[in-house]
Amino acid sequence: MRATRKKNIGIMGGTFDPIHLGHLITAEAVREQIPLDEVIFIPAALPPHKLERRVVPAAKRLFMTKLAIEGHPSFVLSDMELKRKGPSYSSDTLRALRRDYGEGADFYFITGADAASELYTWHDAAYILTVCQVVATTRQGATLDRETLARYFAPELLQRILPLETPAIGISSTDIRQRLKLGKSIRYLVPEAVADYIYKEGLYS
Ligand code: ATP
Ligand code: MG
Repeated sequence: MRATRKKNIGIMGGTFDPIHLGHLITAEAVREQIPLDEVIFIPAALPPHKLERRVVPAAKRLFMTKLAIEGHPSFVLSDMELKRKGPSYSSDTLRALRRDYGEGADFYFITGADAASELYTWHDAAYILTVCQVVATTRQGATLDRETLARYFAPELLQRILPLETPAIGISSTDIRQRLKLGKSIRYLVPEAVADYIYKEGLYS
């Protein structure tokens, strides 16, 4: 009997308020380099690090994410964080994914260097590093802060953070929200279908 190969599953978590080409280009670059069999996009319902800021309702962020990844054969959408109550901890998401996939998959949690540098502030961070590798991608304006991370994580956990060179894309949701508020263009920053939806719903203006 032929043994089935373990699947490499990428997990792209975020607020996606809104999702932009920085997220998509980064996910695609990681998919190709690792390589990943699929990338699951999981919008946070209640992002733990953004509890003090108003975000667009989760259902709309989920819908924008669906529009953004439509047509990519290896990108899939998950609403699992919208189905849970309370803050959307990545550790809970990973625990659920491990239950679903069993030992048949290796997980790669995709983050920008900015987010990866703050991993020690995440709920159950040590568990996250035992259940998956955290891919720290290039993000314009950010560098992976290994020194700080080394103060919080033992070497065997630290080595589960995998720096990966990806195109440096100077796009952020913060900038897009600000542009919309000022009536500036967001063309080429988000997929066209996402821009159409933002205008139709009057989001961020
Ligand atoms: P905000 O400005 O509201 O924080 P954001 O652009 O940082 O939004 P998030 O939803 O916070 O987007 O990010 C989700 C994940 O995607 C994080 O790991 C973040 O580092 C990563 N990411 C976001 N934008 C980029 C980018 N341009 N290049 C690489 N990674 C990115
Ligand atoms: Mg961010």
